[in-house]
Amino acid sequence: MRRTAFRFLSLGIAGLFFFPARPAFPQPGEPAHKTTYYLHGRIYTNDPKQPWASAMAVRDEKIFCIGSIEHILLDCGGSKSEAEIVQLKGRFLMPGFNDAHTHLGSAGHDKLTLDLKGTDSLAELQQRVRIAASQHKPGEWIVGSGWDQTRWPEKTFPHRQDLDEVSPNNPVFLVHISGHVAVANSMALKHTEITEDTKNPTGGEIERDADGKPTGMFKEGSAMEFVEQKIPEATNEERRRGIELVLQELARNGVTSAQDNSAWEDFRVYQDLKEEKKLTVRITEWLPFMEPLNELQNMRSEGGTTDPWLKTGTLKMVTDGALGSHTAALLAPYSDAADTSGIMTIEPEKLKAMALERDKVGFQLAFHAIGDRANRVALDVFESVQRVNGTRDRRDRIEHAQVLAPEDIARFGTLHVIASMQPSHQSNDMRWAEERLGPERVKGAYAWNSIQKAGATLAFGTDYDVEPINPFRGLYACVTRELPEGGPAGGWQPQEKISLDDCIRAYTIGSAYAQFEEGKKGDLKEGKYADFLILSQDLTKATPKEILNMEVLQTVVGGRTVYLKK
Ligand SMILES: [Zn+2]
Repeated sequence: MRRTAFRFLSLGIAGLFFFPARPAFPQPGEPAHKTTYYLHGRIYTNDPKQPWASAMAVRDEKIFCIGSIEHILLDCGGSKSEAEIVQLKGRFLMPGFNDAHTHLGSAGHDKLTLDLKGTDSLAELQQRVRIAASQHKPGEWIVGSGWDQTRWPEKTFPHRQDLDEVSPNNPVFLVHISGHVAVANSMALKHTEITEDTKNPTGGEIERDADGKPTGMFKEGSAMEFVEQKIPEATNEERRRGIELVLQELARNGVTSAQDNSAWEDFRVYQDLKEEKKLTVRITEWLPFMEPLNELQNMRSEGGTTDPWLKTGTLKMVTDGALGSHTAALLAPYSDAADTSGIMTIEPEKLKAMALERDKVGFQLAFHAIGDRANRVALDVFESVQRVNGTRDRRDRIEHAQVLAPEDIARFGTLHVIASMQPSHQSNDMRWAEERLGPERVKGAYAWNSIQKAGATLAFGTDYDVEPINPFRGLYACVTRELPEGGPAGGWQPQEKISLDDCIRAYTIGSAYAQFEEGKKGDLKEGKYADFLILSQDLTKATPKEILNMEVLQTVVGGRTVYLKK
Protein backbone atom coordinates (compact mmCIF):
# COMPACT_ATOMS: atom_id res chain seq x y z
CA MET A 1 0.00 0.00 0.00
CA ARG A 2 1.37 3.40 -0.94
CA ARG A 3 1.69 5.79 1.93
CA THR A 4 2.69 9.42 1.89
CA ALA A 5 3.41 11.64 4.80
CA PHE A 6 1.65 14.97 4.69
CA ARG A 7 1.16 17.69 7.13
CA PHE A 8 -2.41 18.69 7.76
CA LEU A 9 -2.74 22.42 7.27
CA SER A 10 -5.64 24.83 7.03
CA LEU A 11 -8.90 22.96 6.99
CA GLY A 12 -11.53 25.63 6.79
CA ILE A 13 -14.81 25.01 5.04
CA ALA A 14 -13.15 25.93 1.76
CA GLY A 15 -10.02 23.99 2.45
CA LEU A 16 -10.79 20.37 1.73
CA PHE A 17 -7.27 19.89 0.47
CA PHE A 18 -4.15 18.29 1.74
CA PHE A 19 -1.00 20.30 1.41
CA PRO A 20 2.37 18.70 0.79
CA ALA A 21 4.72 18.02 3.62
CA ARG A 22 6.60 20.74 5.37
CA PRO A 23 9.05 20.25 8.18
CA ALA A 24 7.08 19.86 11.37
CA PHE A 25 8.00 22.02 14.30
CA PRO A 26 6.22 20.80 17.41
CA GLN A 27 5.03 23.78 19.40
CA PRO A 28 6.18 24.06 23.01
CA GLY A 29 3.87 22.20 25.33
CA GLU A 30 2.08 20.48 22.48
CA PRO A 31 2.02 16.69 22.91
CA ALA A 32 3.47 14.82 19.92
CA HIS A 33 0.61 12.78 18.52
CA LYS A 34 0.81 10.31 15.70
CA THR A 35 -2.17 10.79 13.42
CA THR A 36 -3.12 8.77 10.38
CA TYR A 37 -6.00 9.45 8.00
CA TYR A 38 -7.42 6.47 6.11
CA LEU A 39 -9.34 7.88 3.18
CA HIS A 40 -11.62 6.69 0.36
CA GLY A 41 -12.15 3.19 1.71
CA ARG A 42 -15.04 0.85 2.04
CA ILE A 43 -15.04 0.73 5.82
CA TYR A 44 -17.19 -1.90 7.48
CA THR A 45 -17.67 -0.42 10.93
CA ASN A 46 -19.61 -3.28 12.52
CA ASP A 47 -21.74 -0.56 14.13
CA PRO A 48 -25.39 -1.14 13.13
CA LYS A 49 -26.16 2.59 13.60
CA GLN A 50 -23.59 3.59 10.99
CA PRO A 51 -22.55 0.41 9.18
CA TRP A 52 -20.35 1.96 6.52
CA ALA A 53 -17.83 4.78 6.43
CA SER A 54 -15.41 6.02 3.82
CA ALA A 55 -12.79 7.61 6.02
CA MET A 56 -11.28 7.16 9.43
CA ALA A 57 -8.77 9.12 11.45
CA VAL A 58 -6.56 7.41 14.00
CA ARG A 59 -4.66 9.31 16.65
CA ASP A 60 -2.11 7.31 18.58
CA GLU A 61 -3.87 4.15 19.74
CA LYS A 62 -7.46 5.13 19.05
CA ILE A 63 -9.97 6.04 16.38
CA PHE A 64 -10.80 9.69 16.85
CA CYS A 65 -13.02 10.18 13.87
CA ILE A 66 -14.92 7.97 11.44
CA GLY A 67 -17.55 8.63 8.79
CA SER A 68 -17.66 10.45 5.48
CA ILE A 69 -14.60 12.20 4.05
CA GLU A 70 -16.35 15.52 4.73
CA HIS A 71 -16.90 14.64 8.37
CA ILE A 72 -13.27 13.64 8.81
CA LEU A 73 -11.92 16.77 7.17
CA LEU A 74 -14.40 19.33 8.43
CA ASP A 75 -15.18 18.18 11.93
CA CYS A 76 -12.04 16.31 12.88
CA GLY A 77 -9.30 18.04 10.94
CA GLY A 78 -7.30 21.06 11.91
CA SER A 79 -4.80 19.00 13.81
CA LYS A 80 -1.47 20.67 14.26
CA SER A 81 0.28 17.37 14.58
CA GLU A 82 2.17 15.49 11.92
CA ALA A 83 -0.30 13.40 9.94
CA GLU A 84 0.07 10.49 7.62
CA ILE A 85 -2.42 9.83 4.83
CA VAL A 86 -3.30 6.36 3.60
CA GLN A 87 -5.34 6.28 0.42
CA LEU A 88 -7.44 3.14 0.68
CA LYS A 89 -8.59 3.37 -2.95
CA GLY A 90 -11.86 1.64 -2.21
CA ARG A 91 -10.31 -1.19 -0.25
CA PHE A 92 -12.27 -3.04 2.43
CA LEU A 93 -11.37 -2.18 6.01
CA MET A 94 -12.93 -3.91 9.02
CA PRO A 95 -12.42 -4.39 12.77
CA GLY A 96 -9.72 -6.87 13.77
CA PHE A 97 -10.76 -10.35 14.82
CA ASN A 98 -10.88 -11.17 18.51
CA ASP A 99 -10.35 -14.90 18.93
CA ALA A 100 -12.24 -15.82 22.10
CA HIS A 101 -10.45 -19.13 22.65
CA THR A 102 -6.79 -19.81 21.87
CA HIS A 103 -3.91 -21.85 23.22
CA LEU A 104 -0.97 -19.73 22.10
CA GLY A 105 1.53 -21.42 24.40
CA SER A 106 0.85 -24.91 23.13
CA ALA A 107 0.66 -23.56 19.58
CA GLY A 108 4.17 -22.19 20.11
CA HIS A 109 5.28 -25.51 21.50
CA ASP A 110 3.77 -27.27 18.49
CA LYS A 111 5.71 -24.98 16.16
CA LEU A 112 8.86 -26.54 17.55
CA THR A 113 7.71 -30.17 17.88
CA LEU A 114 6.44 -32.90 15.58
CA ASP A 115 3.34 -31.70 13.74
CA LEU A 116 0.98 -34.59 12.99
CA LYS A 117 -1.94 -32.55 11.67
CA GLY A 118 -3.25 -33.82 8.36
CA THR A 119 -1.97 -37.39 8.72
CA ASP A 120 -4.36 -39.56 6.75
CA SER A 121 -3.44 -42.98 8.10
CA LEU A 122 -1.62 -44.71 10.93
CA ALA A 123 1.12 -45.58 8.43
CA GLU A 124 1.65 -41.90 7.70
CA LEU A 125 1.90 -41.10 11.41
CA GLN A 126 4.42 -43.93 11.79
CA GLN A 127 6.43 -42.58 8.87
CA ARG A 128 6.65 -39.13 10.45
CA VAL A 129 7.74 -40.64 13.77
CA ARG A 130 10.33 -42.82 11.99
CA ILE A 131 11.84 -39.70 10.38
CA ALA A 132 11.83 -37.84 13.71
CA ALA A 133 13.54 -40.81 15.41
CA SER A 134 16.31 -40.72 12.82
CA GLN A 135 16.88 -37.04 13.70
CA HIS A 136 17.03 -37.57 17.48
CA LYS A 137 19.77 -39.13 19.59
CA PRO A 138 18.75 -42.43 21.25
CA GLY A 139 16.90 -41.70 24.48
CA GLU A 140 15.78 -38.19 23.47
CA TRP A 141 12.07 -37.53 23.72
CA ILE A 142 9.99 -37.23 20.57
CA VAL A 143 6.95 -35.13 21.35
CA GLY A 144 4.27 -34.37 18.83
CA SER A 145 0.62 -33.52 18.41
CA GLY A 146 -2.23 -33.10 15.98
CA TRP A 147 -3.08 -36.67 14.95
CA ASP A 148 -6.74 -37.45 14.43
CA GLN A 149 -7.80 -41.06 13.98
CA THR A 150 -11.16 -39.98 12.52
CA ARG A 151 -9.22 -39.05 9.37
CA TRP A 152 -7.69 -42.53 9.07
CA PRO A 153 -9.19 -45.61 7.41
CA GLU A 154 -8.49 -47.46 10.72
CA LYS A 155 -10.64 -45.01 12.80
CA THR A 156 -9.11 -46.51 15.95
CA PHE A 157 -6.60 -45.13 18.43
CA PRO A 158 -2.96 -46.10 17.90
CA HIS A 159 -1.28 -48.64 20.20
CA ARG A 160 2.12 -48.32 21.86
CA GLN A 161 3.37 -51.16 19.62
CA ASP A 162 2.59 -49.09 16.52
CA LEU A 163 5.08 -46.54 17.83
CA ASP A 164 7.59 -49.13 19.11
CA GLU A 165 7.95 -50.40 15.54
CA VAL A 166 9.23 -47.03 14.33
CA SER A 167 10.86 -45.72 17.49
CA PRO A 168 12.31 -48.49 19.67
CA ASN A 169 15.02 -46.31 21.21
CA ASN A 170 13.32 -42.97 21.78
CA PRO A 171 10.44 -42.26 24.16
CA VAL A 172 7.49 -41.00 22.11
CA PHE A 173 4.42 -39.07 23.29
CA LEU A 174 1.89 -37.87 20.74
CA VAL A 175 -1.11 -35.78 21.71
CA HIS A 176 -4.41 -36.04 19.84
CA ILE A 177 -5.70 -33.03 17.86
CA SER A 178 -8.27 -32.38 20.64
CA GLY A 179 -5.59 -32.23 23.32
CA HIS A 180 -7.73 -34.62 25.38
CA VAL A 181 -5.99 -37.94 24.71
CA ALA A 182 -2.47 -39.03 23.83
CA VAL A 183 -0.46 -42.11 22.93
CA ALA A 184 2.92 -43.15 24.31
CA ASN A 185 5.33 -45.89 23.20
CA SER A 186 6.89 -48.53 25.45
CA MET A 187 10.06 -46.52 26.00
CA ALA A 188 7.97 -43.59 27.27
CA LEU A 189 5.98 -45.92 29.54
CA LYS A 190 9.26 -47.12 31.07
CA HIS A 191 9.90 -43.57 32.26
CA THR A 192 6.63 -43.55 34.22
CA GLU A 193 5.84 -45.36 37.45
CA ILE A 194 2.78 -47.07 35.99
CA THR A 195 2.40 -50.74 36.92
CA GLU A 196 -0.42 -53.22 36.51
CA ASP A 197 -1.71 -52.06 39.91
CA THR A 198 -1.81 -48.35 39.05
CA LYS A 199 -5.40 -47.12 39.31
CA ASN A 200 -7.02 -44.73 36.87
CA PRO A 201 -6.79 -41.16 38.14
CA THR A 202 -10.02 -39.20 38.76
CA GLY A 203 -11.48 -38.02 35.47
CA GLY A 204 -8.94 -39.93 33.41
CA GLU A 205 -8.12 -43.35 32.05
CA ILE A 206 -4.98 -45.35 31.39
CA GLU A 207 -6.26 -47.61 28.64
CA ARG A 208 -5.24 -51.26 29.05
CA ASP A 209 -4.98 -54.45 27.02
CA ALA A 210 -6.75 -57.61 28.18
CA ASP A 211 -3.57 -58.61 30.06
CA GLY A 212 -3.68 -55.40 32.12
CA LYS A 213 -0.71 -53.74 30.39
CA PRO A 214 -1.24 -50.16 29.25
CA THR A 215 -2.04 -49.86 25.54
CA GLY A 216 -0.17 -46.58 25.50
CA MET A 217 -3.37 -44.52 25.24
CA PHE A 218 -3.97 -41.94 27.97
CA LYS A 219 -7.35 -40.26 28.24
CA GLU A 220 -7.75 -36.77 29.70
CA GLY A 221 -5.21 -34.59 31.45
CA SER A 222 -5.09 -36.42 34.76
CA ALA A 223 -3.96 -39.59 32.95
CA MET A 224 -1.73 -37.84 30.39
CA GLU A 225 0.04 -36.24 33.34
CA PHE A 226 1.72 -39.61 34.12
CA VAL A 227 3.83 -39.20 31.01
CA GLU A 228 3.89 -35.42 30.64
CA GLN A 229 5.65 -34.90 33.95
CA LYS A 230 8.56 -37.01 32.67
CA ILE A 231 9.12 -34.93 29.54
CA PRO A 232 11.83 -32.30 29.98
CA GLU A 233 10.35 -28.76 30.10
CA ALA A 234 10.96 -26.42 27.19
CA THR A 235 13.65 -23.85 27.94
CA ASN A 236 12.61 -20.21 28.11
CA GLU A 237 14.32 -19.46 24.82
CA GLU A 238 12.40 -22.30 23.13
CA ARG A 239 9.17 -21.07 24.62
CA ARG A 240 9.78 -17.56 23.38
CA ARG A 241 10.85 -18.71 19.90
CA GLY A 242 7.60 -20.68 19.53
CA ILE A 243 5.46 -17.79 20.77
CA GLU A 244 7.12 -15.32 18.40
CA LEU A 245 6.25 -17.58 15.47
CA VAL A 246 2.69 -17.81 16.72
CA LEU A 247 2.34 -14.03 17.05
CA GLN A 248 3.45 -13.59 13.45
CA GLU A 249 0.81 -16.08 12.39
CA LEU A 250 -1.90 -14.19 14.29
CA ALA A 251 -0.92 -10.87 12.73
CA ARG A 252 -0.90 -12.43 9.25
CA ASN A 253 -4.42 -13.72 9.85
CA GLY A 254 -5.89 -10.47 11.15
CA VAL A 255 -6.29 -11.52 14.77
CA THR A 256 -5.84 -8.42 16.91
CA SER A 257 -7.03 -9.82 20.25
CA ALA A 258 -6.73 -13.29 21.73
CA GLN A 259 -8.33 -14.77 24.84
CA ASP A 260 -5.77 -17.29 25.77
CA ASN A 261 -5.42 -20.42 27.79
CA SER A 262 -1.71 -21.00 28.31
CA ALA A 263 0.73 -21.65 31.12
CA TRP A 264 1.94 -18.96 33.50
CA GLU A 265 5.43 -19.36 31.98
CA ASP A 266 3.92 -18.31 28.65
CA PHE A 267 2.33 -15.30 30.30
CA ARG A 268 5.80 -14.26 31.48
CA VAL A 269 7.03 -14.44 27.90
CA TYR A 270 4.12 -12.19 26.83
CA GLN A 271 5.12 -9.80 29.64
CA ASP A 272 8.69 -9.64 28.31
CA LEU A 273 7.44 -9.07 24.77
CA LYS A 274 5.11 -6.33 25.94
CA GLU A 275 7.93 -4.67 27.84
CA GLU A 276 10.01 -4.70 24.64
CA LYS A 277 7.03 -3.35 22.65
CA LYS A 278 7.01 -6.54 20.57
CA LEU A 279 3.54 -7.73 21.48
CA THR A 280 1.42 -7.60 18.29
CA VAL A 281 -1.89 -8.86 19.67
CA ARG A 282 -3.84 -7.94 22.79
CA ILE A 283 -3.88 -10.94 25.11
CA THR A 284 -6.19 -11.75 27.99
CA GLU A 285 -4.80 -14.75 29.83
CA TRP A 286 -7.11 -17.22 31.52
CA LEU A 287 -6.29 -18.62 34.91
CA PRO A 288 -6.69 -22.26 35.94
CA PHE A 289 -9.96 -22.64 37.88
CA MET A 290 -8.64 -25.56 39.96
CA GLU A 291 -5.76 -23.57 41.51
CA PRO A 292 -6.28 -22.66 45.17
CA LEU A 293 -8.21 -19.41 45.57
CA ASN A 294 -5.36 -17.43 47.15
CA GLU A 295 -3.04 -18.53 44.35
CA LEU A 296 -5.57 -17.29 41.79
CA GLN A 297 -5.83 -13.99 43.58
CA ASN A 298 -2.06 -13.66 43.54
CA MET A 299 -1.95 -14.37 39.82
CA ARG A 300 -4.69 -11.85 39.20
CA SER A 301 -2.91 -9.10 41.09
CA GLU A 302 0.45 -9.96 39.55
CA GLY A 303 -0.90 -10.18 35.97
CA GLY A 304 -3.34 -7.28 36.35
CA THR A 305 -6.82 -6.87 34.93
CA THR A 306 -6.75 -3.49 33.20
CA ASP A 307 -3.83 -3.22 30.78
CA PRO A 308 -5.20 -3.01 27.22
CA TRP A 309 -2.39 -5.20 25.84
CA LEU A 310 -1.94 -7.89 28.44
CA LYS A 311 -3.95 -8.91 31.46
CA THR A 312 -5.54 -11.82 33.25
CA GLY A 313 -9.17 -12.78 32.72
CA THR A 314 -11.63 -15.58 33.25
CA LEU A 315 -11.07 -18.81 35.17
CA LYS A 316 -11.06 -21.76 32.81
CA MET A 317 -12.24 -25.20 33.89
CA VAL A 318 -12.35 -28.25 31.65
CA THR A 319 -15.43 -30.21 32.71
CA ASP A 320 -15.45 -32.97 30.10
CA GLY A 321 -13.49 -34.32 27.15
CA ALA A 322 -14.08 -34.13 23.41
CA LEU A 323 -16.50 -35.72 20.99
CA GLY A 324 -13.90 -37.15 18.59
CA SER A 325 -12.31 -39.20 21.37
CA HIS A 326 -15.65 -40.29 22.95
CA THR A 327 -14.74 -38.41 26.14
CA ALA A 328 -17.31 -35.57 25.92
CA ALA A 329 -19.86 -36.22 28.71
CA LEU A 330 -23.27 -37.10 27.26
CA LEU A 331 -26.64 -37.59 28.96
CA ALA A 332 -26.99 -40.98 27.23
CA PRO A 333 -24.40 -43.39 25.76
CA TYR A 334 -22.66 -42.67 22.47
CA SER A 335 -24.55 -43.87 19.42
CA ASP A 336 -21.39 -45.58 18.15
CA ALA A 337 -20.06 -46.76 21.53
CA ALA A 338 -22.90 -47.99 23.73
CA ASP A 339 -20.52 -48.76 26.61
CA THR A 340 -19.62 -45.14 27.30
CA SER A 341 -21.25 -41.75 27.88
CA GLY A 342 -17.93 -39.95 28.13
CA ILE A 343 -16.09 -38.46 31.09
CA MET A 344 -16.94 -35.67 33.54
CA THR A 345 -13.61 -34.52 34.90
CA ILE A 346 -15.11 -33.24 38.16
CA GLU A 347 -18.05 -34.06 40.44
CA PRO A 348 -20.87 -31.56 39.75
CA GLU A 349 -21.24 -30.82 43.49
CA LYS A 350 -17.55 -30.06 43.82
CA LEU A 351 -17.67 -27.87 40.71
CA LYS A 352 -20.56 -25.92 42.21
CA ALA A 353 -18.83 -25.37 45.54
CA MET A 354 -15.66 -24.14 43.89
CA ALA A 355 -17.61 -21.96 41.46
CA LEU A 356 -19.52 -20.28 44.30
CA GLU A 357 -16.31 -19.49 46.11
CA ARG A 358 -14.52 -18.13 43.01
CA ASP A 359 -17.48 -16.12 41.75
CA LYS A 360 -17.86 -14.52 45.15
CA VAL A 361 -14.47 -12.83 44.90
CA GLY A 362 -15.30 -11.46 41.45
CA PHE A 363 -13.80 -13.98 39.08
CA GLN A 364 -15.50 -14.61 35.75
CA LEU A 365 -16.03 -18.32 35.09
CA ALA A 366 -15.58 -20.25 31.84
CA PHE A 367 -16.39 -23.94 31.67
CA HIS A 368 -15.26 -26.08 28.79
CA ALA A 369 -18.35 -28.22 28.09
CA ILE A 370 -18.79 -30.27 24.93
CA GLY A 371 -21.31 -33.01 25.67
CA ASP A 372 -24.95 -32.30 26.52
CA ARG A 373 -24.39 -33.58 30.05
CA ALA A 374 -21.40 -31.33 30.69
CA ASN A 375 -23.35 -28.38 29.29
CA ARG A 376 -26.30 -29.10 31.55
CA VAL A 377 -24.02 -29.35 34.58
CA ALA A 378 -22.38 -26.04 33.62
CA LEU A 379 -25.75 -24.30 33.23
CA ASP A 380 -26.96 -25.77 36.54
CA VAL A 381 -23.84 -24.52 38.30
CA PHE A 382 -24.19 -21.03 36.79
CA GLU A 383 -27.84 -20.97 37.80
CA SER A 384 -26.92 -21.81 41.41
CA VAL A 385 -24.13 -19.26 41.47
CA GLN A 386 -26.46 -16.54 40.24
CA ARG A 387 -29.08 -17.48 42.81
CA VAL A 388 -26.75 -17.82 45.77
CA ASN A 389 -24.27 -15.02 45.09
CA GLY A 390 -26.81 -12.54 43.73
CA THR A 391 -26.99 -10.39 40.64
CA ARG A 392 -23.91 -8.82 39.13
CA ASP A 393 -22.43 -8.34 35.66
CA ARG A 394 -20.58 -11.68 35.77
CA ARG A 395 -20.75 -12.92 32.15
CA ASP A 396 -20.43 -16.65 32.75
CA ARG A 397 -19.12 -18.46 29.69
CA ILE A 398 -19.36 -21.96 28.30
CA GLU A 399 -16.46 -22.85 26.06
CA HIS A 400 -17.46 -24.92 22.99
CA ALA A 401 -21.13 -25.54 23.98
CA GLN A 402 -21.01 -28.13 21.25
CA VAL A 403 -23.83 -30.55 21.97
CA LEU A 404 -26.93 -29.23 23.72
CA ALA A 405 -30.14 -30.90 24.82
CA PRO A 406 -32.92 -28.90 23.10
CA GLU A 407 -34.42 -27.85 26.45
CA ASP A 408 -31.09 -26.35 27.54
CA ILE A 409 -30.66 -23.98 24.59
CA ALA A 410 -33.08 -21.35 25.96
CA ARG A 411 -31.17 -21.33 29.28
CA PHE A 412 -28.22 -19.63 27.58
CA GLY A 413 -30.55 -16.69 27.04
CA THR A 414 -32.33 -16.67 30.39
CA LEU A 415 -29.13 -17.17 32.41
CA HIS A 416 -27.15 -14.74 30.18
CA VAL A 417 -24.49 -17.37 29.59
CA ILE A 418 -22.08 -16.56 26.76
CA ALA A 419 -21.62 -19.36 24.23
CA SER A 420 -17.95 -19.21 23.31
CA MET A 421 -17.87 -21.37 20.20
CA GLN A 422 -15.56 -22.24 17.32
CA PRO A 423 -17.34 -22.43 13.97
CA SER A 424 -14.45 -24.24 12.30
CA HIS A 425 -14.80 -27.15 14.74
CA GLN A 426 -18.07 -27.83 12.97
CA SER A 427 -16.30 -27.96 9.59
CA ASN A 428 -14.16 -30.74 10.92
CA ASP A 429 -16.54 -32.61 13.23
CA MET A 430 -19.52 -32.82 10.85
CA ARG A 431 -17.73 -35.77 9.20
CA TRP A 432 -18.47 -38.01 12.17
CA ALA A 433 -20.65 -36.09 14.68
CA GLU A 434 -23.79 -37.92 13.62
CA GLU A 435 -22.13 -41.31 14.14
CA ARG A 436 -21.30 -40.28 17.69
CA LEU A 437 -24.65 -38.68 18.47
CA GLY A 438 -27.29 -40.25 16.25
CA PRO A 439 -29.84 -38.37 14.11
CA GLU A 440 -31.79 -36.75 16.99
CA ARG A 441 -29.08 -35.44 19.30
CA VAL A 442 -27.07 -34.09 16.38
CA LYS A 443 -29.73 -31.41 15.87
CA GLY A 444 -28.53 -29.70 19.04
CA ALA A 445 -24.90 -29.71 17.89
CA TYR A 446 -23.01 -26.54 16.91
CA ALA A 447 -26.39 -24.79 17.16
CA TRP A 448 -25.26 -21.21 16.53
CA ASN A 449 -28.54 -19.96 15.15
CA SER A 450 -30.67 -21.50 17.92
CA ILE A 451 -28.40 -20.13 20.63
CA GLN A 452 -28.43 -16.68 19.06
CA LYS A 453 -32.21 -16.77 18.74
CA ALA A 454 -32.42 -17.69 22.43
CA GLY A 455 -30.96 -14.25 23.11
CA ALA A 456 -27.49 -15.37 24.18
CA THR A 457 -24.23 -13.74 23.13
CA LEU A 458 -22.04 -15.74 20.79
CA ALA A 459 -18.29 -15.23 21.14
CA PHE A 460 -16.33 -16.89 18.35
CA GLY A 461 -12.81 -18.20 18.10
CA THR A 462 -10.83 -21.18 16.87
CA ASP A 463 -9.40 -23.13 19.81
CA TYR A 464 -6.09 -22.56 17.97
CA ASP A 465 -4.07 -24.65 17.42
CA VAL A 466 -6.69 -27.38 17.62
CA GLU A 467 -7.95 -25.60 14.49
CA PRO A 468 -5.95 -23.14 12.38
CA ILE A 469 -6.12 -19.53 13.59
CA ASN A 470 -7.51 -18.28 10.23
CA PRO A 471 -10.85 -16.59 11.09
CA PHE A 472 -12.07 -16.76 7.50
CA ARG A 473 -12.49 -20.52 7.87
CA GLY A 474 -14.93 -19.71 10.66
CA LEU A 475 -16.84 -17.18 8.56
CA TYR A 476 -17.06 -19.73 5.76
CA ALA A 477 -18.45 -22.30 8.23
CA CYS A 478 -21.07 -19.83 9.52
CA VAL A 479 -22.55 -19.11 6.12
CA THR A 480 -22.21 -22.55 4.50
CA ARG A 481 -21.87 -25.30 7.14
CA GLU A 482 -20.04 -27.13 4.40
CA LEU A 483 -16.65 -28.82 4.36
CA PRO A 484 -13.83 -26.52 3.23
CA GLU A 485 -13.70 -28.56 0.01
CA GLY A 486 -17.50 -28.14 -0.36
CA GLY A 487 -20.52 -30.29 0.50
CA PRO A 488 -22.81 -31.60 1.73
CA ALA A 489 -24.96 -29.58 -0.68
CA GLY A 490 -26.85 -26.86 1.18
CA GLY A 491 -24.82 -27.48 4.33
CA TRP A 492 -24.87 -29.85 7.28
CA GLN A 493 -27.79 -29.12 9.64
CA PRO A 494 -28.31 -25.95 7.58
CA GLN A 495 -30.92 -24.49 9.95
CA GLU A 496 -28.00 -23.51 12.21
CA LYS A 497 -26.24 -21.26 9.66
CA ILE A 498 -25.96 -17.61 10.63
CA SER A 499 -25.46 -14.53 8.47
CA LEU A 500 -22.03 -13.15 7.66
CA ASP A 501 -22.80 -9.98 9.66
CA ASP A 502 -23.81 -11.99 12.73
CA CYS A 503 -20.75 -14.20 12.37
CA ILE A 504 -18.42 -11.19 12.15
CA ARG A 505 -20.12 -9.69 15.21
CA ALA A 506 -19.61 -12.90 17.19
CA TYR A 507 -15.95 -12.82 16.19
CA THR A 508 -15.43 -9.16 17.17
CA ILE A 509 -17.88 -7.37 19.45
CA GLY A 510 -19.26 -10.68 20.81
CA SER A 511 -15.83 -11.86 21.86
CA ALA A 512 -15.01 -8.39 23.20
CA TYR A 513 -18.17 -8.62 25.35
CA ALA A 514 -17.01 -12.00 26.64
CA GLN A 515 -13.95 -10.23 28.09
CA PHE A 516 -15.81 -7.08 29.29
CA GLU A 517 -14.22 -4.94 26.57
CA GLU A 518 -17.08 -4.20 24.18
CA GLY A 519 -16.72 -0.53 25.14
CA LYS A 520 -13.11 -0.48 23.94
CA LYS A 521 -12.97 -2.59 20.81
CA GLY A 522 -14.95 -4.86 18.49
CA ASP A 523 -16.30 -2.18 16.18
CA LEU A 524 -14.94 0.95 14.58
CA LYS A 525 -16.27 3.91 16.53
CA GLU A 526 -14.80 7.12 17.81
CA GLY A 527 -12.87 6.49 21.00
CA LYS A 528 -12.28 2.80 20.40
CA TYR A 529 -8.91 1.16 19.85
CA ALA A 530 -7.67 1.35 16.29
CA ASP A 531 -7.58 -2.43 15.81
CA PHE A 532 -8.44 -3.18 12.20
CA LEU A 533 -7.64 -4.97 8.97
CA ILE A 534 -7.48 -4.19 5.30
CA LEU A 535 -8.48 -7.13 3.11
CA SER A 536 -7.81 -8.18 -0.46
CA GLN A 537 -11.52 -8.10 -1.24
CA ASP A 538 -14.87 -6.84 0.01
CA LEU A 539 -15.93 -9.54 2.45
CA THR A 540 -19.61 -8.67 2.08
CA LYS A 541 -19.49 -9.26 -1.68
CA ALA A 542 -17.32 -12.38 -1.63
CA THR A 543 -18.55 -15.86 -2.51
CA PRO A 544 -18.06 -18.53 0.20
CA LYS A 545 -14.97 -19.85 -1.64
CA GLU A 546 -13.57 -16.32 -1.78
CA ILE A 547 -14.24 -15.85 1.94
CA LEU A 548 -12.24 -19.01 2.61
CA ASN A 549 -9.32 -17.71 0.55
CA MET A 550 -9.50 -14.11 1.76
CA GLU A 551 -6.13 -12.45 2.26
CA VAL A 552 -5.24 -9.91 4.88
CA LEU A 553 -3.21 -7.05 3.35
CA GLN A 554 -2.57 -5.16 6.55
CA THR A 555 -3.22 -5.63 10.25
CA VAL A 556 -3.21 -2.68 12.63
CA VAL A 557 -3.37 -2.97 16.42
CA GLY A 558 -3.62 0.16 18.53
CA GLY A 559 -2.79 2.29 15.49
CA ARG A 560 0.42 0.35 14.84
CA THR A 561 0.86 -1.81 11.74
CA VAL A 562 1.80 -5.31 12.88
CA TYR A 563 1.50 -6.98 9.49
CA LEU A 564 1.82 -5.65 5.97
CA LYS A 565 1.60 -8.06 3.07
CA LYS A 566 4.73 -7.87 0.92
ZN1 LIG B 1 -9.42 -25.10 24.10
